[in-house]
This record gives sequence, C-alpha cells and structure tokens, in this order.
Amino acid sequence: MKIVVCVKQVPDTAAKLTVVNGKASWGDAALVINPWDEYAVEAALTQDGAEVVALSMGNESALDALKHALAMGAKEAILVSDPALAGADSQATAKVLAAAVKKIGGVDLVLFGRQAVDSDGGITAAQTARVLGWPILSLAASLQTGGGTVKVTRSIEEGQQMVEGKLPAVVSVVKDIGEPRYPSFMGIRKASRAQIPAWTLADLGIAAPTAVVRWPELMSPPLREVMCETITGGSPEEIAAILADRILAEKVI
Ligand SMILES: Cc1cc2nc3c(=O)[nH]c(=O)nc-3n(C[C@H](O)[C@H](O)[C@H](O)COP(=O)(O)OP(=O)(O)OC[C@H]3O[C@@H](n4cnc5c(N)ncnc54)[C@H](O)[C@@H]3O)c2cc1C
Repeated sequence: MKIVVCVKQVPDTAAKLTVVNGKASWGDAALVINPWDEYAVEAALTQDGAEVVALSMGNESALDALKHALAMGAKEAILVSDPALAGADSQATAKVLAAAVKKIGGVDLVLFGRQAVDSDGGITAAQTARVLGWPILSLAASLQTGGGTVKVTRSIEEGQQMVEGKLPAVVSVVKDIGEPRYPSFMGIRKASRAQIPAWTLADLGIAAPTAVVRWPELMSPPLREVMCETITGGSPEEIAAILADRILAEKVI
C-alpha cells in the first residue's frame, strides 16, 4: 500500500505572530514540521505493509520537514518547489499536491494533518481530495485499511462515528490517531544523507495555479492594558477580604 503524507514546514508553535507592514511575520523563529503532520506520518507508518512517501510544497526550508518524516521512517520524500508558487492559497496548494500525487503514481492513500499551525485553514485535505476526485475522510482518530477500503473513527462529544470509504482516498488525522514516534538515531543519520528530489511545476506538467483568495490586510489586536497588584500582609482571611473588595470594585463579579 502506497501512502503519501503531506507535510508542511511551519514556524515553531512557541513563535509569536506579529503583523509587519500588513503581513504575518514570525520573525526569525525556528521552523519545524507542522506538529499535526507528525501524527499523519505516524498513522501512515503503522499501516500494514505501508510504503510511505512524504510530500511537501514549499521552499528549501521544507526539506527539514521532509527529513523529519524520513527520520521517523518514511521511505521516500519529495519536495515541490517553484518560484511561481509564492503566495499560493490553499486551493492552489491542493492542485499542486494532487498533481504530485498523480506523478508519484499508484497511490492508495493520502494523509494530512488536521491543520497547519501557521495559517490554520484546515481545508487543504478536502481541496486535494476534490481535485483528485477521491473521497475525503476528515478528522480521523483511528485509521484502518484493507480490502480496498479505508475505515476511520471520528471522536465527537456524543461518542464515536465510524466512516468508511473506497481507496484511493484522502484522510486528515487528529491527535487521537497515536503519539508520533521520536526519530531514531539511525533514522536521523539516514535522513541527513537522503537526496530529496525537488520537482518544479514543469516536472508536474501543470501551469502555476492562480490563487483565488488574497489576505490583503492583517491587523494585530489592540494592546490591552494590564495592571498588577500584589496584596500582601495580614492573615489569609484579611488578604481574601481585600481581594474580594477589589474584585467587587472592578465589577469582575
Ligand atoms: C495569514 C495567512 C492567512 C491565510 N489565509 C488563507 C485563506 O483564508 N484561504 C486560503 O486558501 N489560503 C490562506 N492562506 C494560504 C495558506 O496558508 C497556504 O495556501 C497553505 O499552503 C495551505 O493552507 P493552510 O496553511 O491553511 O493549511 P491547512 O489547510 O491548515 O493544512 C492542512 C494540512 O494540509 C497539509 N499542507 C498544507 N500546506 C501544505 C504544503 N505546502 N505542503 C504539503 N502539505 C501541506 C498539511 O498536512 C496540513 O496539516 C493564508 C496564509 C497566511 C500566511
């Protein structure tokens, strides 16, 4: 079973997002594999007889996300990189990922994380499925393949939903799918030596997809003024009484 896992290189989740000249900026924050995509790699690696290919669209920095997937145990990695892809929206991204999946060939399953932590759209999996014309099974908490089908469970407040579709299919996963493994020492060494092919749009045989949405303006929320007061001295009862007065005076309750 050939499984493609789509992985995105994103700023570390601890990085602070600011708006610089109307554009989102994470400064010089470290870049990491999108944490949700580690779960997707884990889900792929745990399927019986899986041949796992990691796929990313991005610039050279995305090689690190691909190497992380290789170090976890993916067999192969492919980068799609082309200057014409700067400013791609999720629909353009989906068209490119779908074209790459077709070029890889013989793919049974395409896995995604539930969302990318930098722009949090959570729609690329569904859009890629639409371009491929394959079923989408979203937000899978467990995943089982066999007999030409894929079965997932989806956790909801009221219980669990079972969803089944025919392969080839696209699945996005959530955390319950299973804790991602740490890359082994051998895996890291293998990944560091890996030659990762970089495909251009010409290699995929497609023209640059046009972005259909723009995000012309971003604004930081207005700064909130915060005042701190430490109540000291007296017995715990006296401190609690002062605290209660303050809370009432501020109309918090
Ligand atoms: C501030 C900001 C706002 C944006 N708003 C929008 C918007 O409203 N609509 C829109 O269409 N685009 C938007 N974009 C563009 C969007 O970030 C990119 O198109 C991106 O490649 C895909 O969308 P996403 O990051 O939201 O991914 P999501 O849909 O959240 O990602 C889901 C999964 O898709 C996979 N994936 C996503 N991108 C890649 C990739 N490049 N390579 C491999 N796998 C990938 C990963 O498995 C990921 O877990 C925005 C970008 C920024 C910076």
